[in-house]
Amino acid sequence: MTLKQLASTRKITSFHPPQRTLMGPGPTEIHPRVLTTMSQPAIGYLDPVFVEMMEELKALLRYVYQTDNALTFPVSGPGSVGMEYCFVNLVTPGMKVIVCRNGVFGGRMLENVERCGGVPVIVDDDWGKPVDPQKVEDAFKANPDAKLLAFVHAETSTGAQSDAKTLTAIARKHGAMVIVDAVTSLGGTPVRVDEWGIDAIYSASQKCLSCTPGLSPVSFSQRAVDFVKARTEKVHSWFMDMTLLASYWGNTNRTYHHTAPTNSLFALHEALLLIQEEGLDKSWARHQRHHLALKAGLEAMGLKFFVEEKYQLPQMNAVLCPTGVDEELVRKSLLNEFGIEIGAGLGPLKGKIWRFGLMGYSCRPDNVMLCLSALGSVLMDLGLAIKVGEAEAAAHQAYATLHAADAQHARKKVAVA
Ligand SMILES: *Cc1c(COP(=O)(O)O)cnc(C)c1O
Repeated sequence: MTLKQLASTRKITSFHPPQRTLMGPGPTEIHPRVLTTMSQPAIGYLDPVFVEMMEELKALLRYVYQTDNALTFPVSGPGSVGMEYCFVNLVTPGMKVIVCRNGVFGGRMLENVERCGGVPVIVDDDWGKPVDPQKVEDAFKANPDAKLLAFVHAETSTGAQSDAKTLTAIARKHGAMVIVDAVTSLGGTPVRVDEWGIDAIYSASQKCLSCTPGLSPVSFSQRAVDFVKARTEKVHSWFMDMTLLASYWGNTNRTYHHTAPTNSLFALHEALLLIQEEGLDKSWARHQRHHLALKAGLEAMGLKFFVEEKYQLPQMNAVLCPTGVDEELVRKSLLNEFGIEIGAGLGPLKGKIWRFGLMGYSCRPDNVMLCLSALGSVLMDLGLAIKVGEAEAAAHQAYATLHAADAQHARKKVAVA
């Protein structure tokens, strides 16, 4: 825009976004404590107070990743940067990599392998299905020289969860390292880096961690770190070279690498502290509970889930748009009339599914009920045979059943004690 054009536009004022209910694939709503923390005064990225906070932040990340990995820290950049960080460090030119593709993000992993000069062996599964462990086993048998396996734990584009523990075990049996995308799974469903033996893993701040976008927590096993140290050829990215960044995120002699996004890091520290206060297992259980209630309501409206029940992600609920319904119009009505954002289908699923996220701070009973009520009224306006209140009643019933089961469980515990 030229100066003249700028002068002719309406007067520019400060920007105040509207209040939204975020139930899409991320970003999520942010806890007020995180927002307050983020608006604190700036301090230098080498200030001793900041450095102390960094140590706590790393410890909190180790907790959510369930790992003792020394090299666990947030990369400055969105989840996509965390993804590149893993590939650019661990894939060397000519290296054979088994890469699993069952949605958008598996496709991006493949793109990364190719750009790093790796030789990909693709394991394809239909969108909406998990990665098939048998196919991965067959791929290793057919390619005994494969050095790396890469897969997405929670495929946000379809709502399907893959069995990260089994897939990692297959790779280890064949002596290969493992890169896992835990962008949508971390904080929402169990991720156990050490127990499962994952070598490199990345996530993002704005999904189940409920922080502002722009940070990507990563963790590397000692095996992965040793591999990168032993590389003879320089890593093809200066910014993402693991051996250089260790000078800032390592434990001693911190020096300048790049200007860390300090206030975003305060925010992540607070968001992780909230998870620690709740307890990871309680956070996982909360995602499951609200998923079951939302699902009961959506199904009571006659909607069908895209993914088979046993592979459904609690934090990402993909349902088929009924035939004859304008998929986009429904999303627009939810946003304009109720301030609710849900996700559309990507790639081949465009126009075919809706994606209801229940991630982090957005994963609450008030959001479940509001969403069911709003969706019911929008679909009814479009002429679908939906009765007011039926979805809410089904969700209420699901909550009541879960409460009864919890109470019974608690009584049994007391009886045993
Ligand atoms: C969102 C997402 C990413 C990318 O994260 P950005 O922060 O958008 O770059 C990668 N993988 C999965 C599975 C995701 O859901």
